[in-house]
Amino acid sequence: MPRILTTCPTTGTLVPTGQRAPAFDLTTMGEGHAFRCPACDKPHVWHAEDAVVEAQMSLPAYSSAA
Ligand SMILES: [Zn+2]
Repeated sequence: MPRILTTCPTTGTLVPTGQRAPAFDLTTMGEGHAFRCPACDKPHVWHAEDAVVEAQMSLPAYSSAA
């Protein structure tokens, strides 16, 4: 399953929550998931509206056009 990422409120960078999405629709995940941030080592709580699923991000390395 793809990883769930969210923005760290301390560093402003996108960090993995350590959780994975069973579906691309994060609204099915419920609200208020706590995790320890790998960027600042503090606990945060992420919500569906400020989280993204890794596989939805466009990665240039995945392009097979060349
Ligand atoms: Zn953080």
